[in-house]
Amino acid sequence: MHAILARPWLLDAALLEGVAHAAHERADLADPFAGGSGLLLAARLGYVVIARDDVGCGVSGLMPQMLLVRASADDPRWNLRVLHELAHGLLDDAHPHHGHADVWALTLALAIPGRAFRRHHDARHVPRWAVALRRLTSRAVSHG
Ligand SMILES: [Zn+2]
Repeated sequence: MHAILARPWLLDAALLEGVAHAAHERADLADPFAGGSGLLLAARLGYVVIARDDVGCGVSGLMPQMLLVRASADDPRWNLRVLHELAHGLLDDAHPHHGHADVWALTLALAIPGRAFRRHHDARHVPRWAVALRRLTSRAVSHG
């Protein structure tokens, strides 16, 4: 994961923050840090989420507005997977020329929008490593 994020981002970091911000503005979740927030975010943006055991990431583009997400019994991991596929979907639609590092950066920005991560260092709606990575990538954005 860290290695993926360390690869060059094809999209501007501020643009990715903007995509995450716009998604949250549109969805207007009561609590972006609640369990299952990814599913709610996807639903409010018009995506149908389907859990499948036989898919990897990034295959959802075959059907518009439908996200195929690998199933998980682990709630935070499932939530992060939904957000990751949502990130694939949003970038496929709006910014076709992107790389997987961009998708991961957007995944983390969707999970912990804006600068809220400072207040949610103990967030439990996604795996803790994702929160830690968000902190790192946010710093990278802030300091260029
Ligand atoms: Zn992916």
